[in-house]
Amino acid sequence: MVSRNSPSLSKSRFAAGLQCLKRLYFECFSRDLADAVTPQQQALFDGGTVVGELARDRFGPGLLIAEPYFEHTVAVQHTKEAMENDEIRTLFEAAFSFEGINIRADILTKNDDGSLDLIEVKSSTSYKPEHLPDIAIQQYVIEGLGYFVRKAGLMHIDNTYVYAGGDYDLERLFTVEDASAQAQTYASSEARGQLTEMWNVLGSSTEPAIATGPHCTKPYVCSFYGHCHPAELPHAVNQLPSVSVKLLNNFKSAGIREISDIPTGFQGLTDRQLRVRDAVVTGKPYESGDLQTALNDVTYPIHFLDFETISPALPLYVGTRPYRQIPFQWSIHTLDSTGGLRHVEYLHNAADDPRETLALEMLEALDDRGSIVVYTGFEEARIKELADALPKHRGSLLDLCGRIFDLHKVLSANYYHPEFHGSWSIKSVLPALIPNLSYADLDIKDGTLASLSFGQMISPETSEEEKAQIRESLLAYCKRDTEAMVEIYRQLRTE
Ligand code: SF4
Repeated sequence: MVSRNSPSLSKSRFAAGLQCLKRLYFECFSRDLADAVTPQQQALFDGGTVVGELARDRFGPGLLIAEPYFEHTVAVQHTKEAMENDEIRTLFEAAFSFEGINIRADILTKNDDGSLDLIEVKSSTSYKPEHLPDIAIQQYVIEGLGYFVRKAGLMHIDNTYVYAGGDYDLERLFTVEDASAQAQTYASSEARGQLTEMWNVLGSSTEPAIATGPHCTKPYVCSFYGHCHPAELPHAVNQLPSVSVKLLNNFKSAGIREISDIPTGFQGLTDRQLRVRDAVVTGKPYESGDLQTALNDVTYPIHFLDFETISPALPLYVGTRPYRQIPFQWSIHTLDSTGGLRHVEYLHNAADDPRETLALEMLEALDDRGSIVVYTGFEEARIKELADALPKHRGSLLDLCGRIFDLHKVLSANYYHPEFHGSWSIKSVLPALIPNLSYADLDIKDGTLASLSFGQMISPETSEEEKAQIRESLLAYCKRDTEAMVEIYRQLRTE
């Protein structure tokens, strides 16, 4: 049970404790050990806040308990007054404390019989098992204070909603899943034991001895991942492609941490994993006898194509759905049979729907001849979506799919360099094969940041000067992706 000097628990700390008691301990006593929040993570948090605010409108009008989290005591007092006021039927961010657990309920509605309905809001597109403890701990606290929760549920985004323009149709944008029975069971059974365990850990003067493992990334990447995984081995066994938990446990039992320590004949490795092991042991790349044939299966001129996309939780363009990938930029390098290389690019420059202009410019650049080299199936999927969205150009767009050549697929089936470290992503392949070409000199170094930057570039709040800078950075990033593909292709094709 809670001791006098224990820190308080919260929804997020309870979730942290369920993932790993050491994480909970760090969250409460050693926040400074946490990994820095990346711009990508920050954007996710911000996106969640916007969704949460919009979700209130579906239940409005209501009273927002506006005190920030660090003013919990005041928020609890305001909530108490609102709970006693019959005029107020709905509360947003209602604050409660019970047994040292502080919670804020996203949406709470009062029923005529005095019971309450509790809604947790998530920007996900489905109800997931990890959401249940979030709901149940709130129910535990609220019922602990003597209220009765009649219904408890999760409101999330419905990704089948199609935006028709204007204000969002909140009845369609959000869906509520009832979790009353599960939350009731959880709150009255598992929660108590789990809380006891957490309080015991928090009452201790030392962190619990918990080894790293699959729980460090499931259901969330732990915010102390970097602290617990200092200087990973250069070829740790978890770099084996598609390595199972069972195989990792077998390595652990055998005291094997590095790929090079896996003895010949060790049971349970797939052919692909064996090839990776052999490449690491010998220090030499693996190349299948089919690689050159596969690389030659192209027609000149060879177009290397890459898209950048945004996938907003709240759809921006008419006819799109939540989280739908919308291309806003492409880069194409075209290699002719004499070795000549030409570059063209497109970057949408306004807040309107980029798809039609982007598609038309791309069709012109790709002409009707030559292979289209992509890296993974991402570009083909986007082209098919463009074809669905633009019926006038459907035929021409679908024709492109017949010319696609997936360099990633060819590489992952036929080639492995020990410095790939278990990944065939372009960011892993490039430094191993073309060490003098990297993303290090660029402002934008990955697709997520490109997506965030585009959002910033089209925002009316961004100055013209800043827009111009972002535009340059986006163009440089997408261009580097296709440049990288060209150089990887050239490097590997020897016949
Ligand atoms: S990184 Fe893993 S072991 Fe370390 S605190 Fe997080 S979940 Fe626990």
